[in-house]
Amino acid sequence: MHRIEAERMIPGRGEPITGAVVVMDGATISYAGPAASAPQAPAAVRHRAQVVMPGLWDCHGHFLGVRTLDLARMPMEPLALRAARCAADLRNALDAGVTSVREVGGFGVHLARAVTEGVLDGPTIYGAGAIISTTGGHGDLHSYPLDWMDGHVRAEGTQCLADGVPSCQRAAREQLRKGARIIKVCASGGVTSELDDPVHQQFTVAELRAIVEVAAMAERSVAAHCHGKPGIMAALEAGVHTIEHGTYLDEECCDAMAESGAILVPTRTIIEEMLAATQYMPDYASAKLRVVAGTHAEAVARAREHGVTIAVGTDIAMTGMELPNSWGRNGRELAHMVTLGLTPLEAIEAATATAPSTLGAQAPRSGVLEAGYDADVITLDADPLDDITVLADPAHVTGVWTRGRQVKGGGGKAA
Ligand SMILES: [Zn+2]
Repeated sequence: MHRIEAERMIPGRGEPITGAVVVMDGATISYAGPAASAPQAPAAVRHRAQVVMPGLWDCHGHFLGVRTLDLARMPMEPLALRAARCAADLRNALDAGVTSVREVGGFGVHLARAVTEGVLDGPTIYGAGAIISTTGGHGDLHSYPLDWMDGHVRAEGTQCLADGVPSCQRAAREQLRKGARIIKVCASGGVTSELDDPVHQQFTVAELRAIVEVAAMAERSVAAHCHGKPGIMAALEAGVHTIEHGTYLDEECCDAMAESGAILVPTRTIIEEMLAATQYMPDYASAKLRVVAGTHAEAVARAREHGVTIAVGTDIAMTGMELPNSWGRNGRELAHMVTLGLTPLEAIEAATATAPSTLGAQAPRSGVLEAGYDADVITLDADPLDDITVLADPAHVTGVWTRGRQVKGGGGKAA
């Protein structure tokens, strides 16, 4: 049992409370509210903090264990090496205050088991398994022989090519077979892939519908990577739950999203971090990145103005805090969201209370400090409502609890 007394509590949804207490009993929060009416909890370990808030979610990350965004190099590095690097990603995420990750393509489905077993400390992971892509699409490695993609790379489990309705159904079921909690599709071209155009639609509406239908039967929702408008509109028509990136979202797209309740996961971090460090990506990718960067910023601001629901995700994929777009830098996304028009409180809500709903029917009771919710809690030594960049620096995150277990910080006193 842990009892945190804080100068200020940011509950995730709703207004902050001055002078608050959070009590965690096992894996669940048993009290969160004003100190005056808090239970004494004499058996609890006691902590004091400037600020207490829910642990952060990253709704768009990749556990790939890569040290470059030249993704064609991925199959050249042994799987064991890349998986070992991910162990560092888990620790760096926790230290940054990230207690939940929606992992939209990578080793997350397997790492989730290692965390559940208690073998590794890490955030709770909701993994997609492999990214499902068309042949020649964003999830394809265009320079490899196609039978390597369908054989070796598909077996590694990070990418899966599918064309036509039966092949798409099979691809979605392969991910469910690995324990996927969400299904990820590439509905448009992308930046890090070599030959495709981010504006072009990939997958027909019929193919996307087939994937959404298979996912829905297992109470899973579908996350669609989309830059161009045709892919966004096709994905929404097919019933996907979230639009990832959303670069060319115009008014019509925003209206369609607001109407369907689809959530936007903007991933500004990868754009900002890679623009500043293009040596970590091939020239074809940096050229495409420069084309989409400005349009993407406008789209996020537009979405917010049109009342589209936004959840925080980064597209972080690299291992090593010294590298750009790496695990541990996740909190930077909130500052980017504030730059693009969200208030600090809105950015925090997008990274906490709103985030679980990106999982649809798989959403846990997380992201809010309230009795009955998962005890995923962080403490800070400065107030992110005064300066949102506090959350960008892991040094300000003084304590982290996942499911009621403290995984960062000490300083608790037994009563
Ligand atoms: Zn991504």
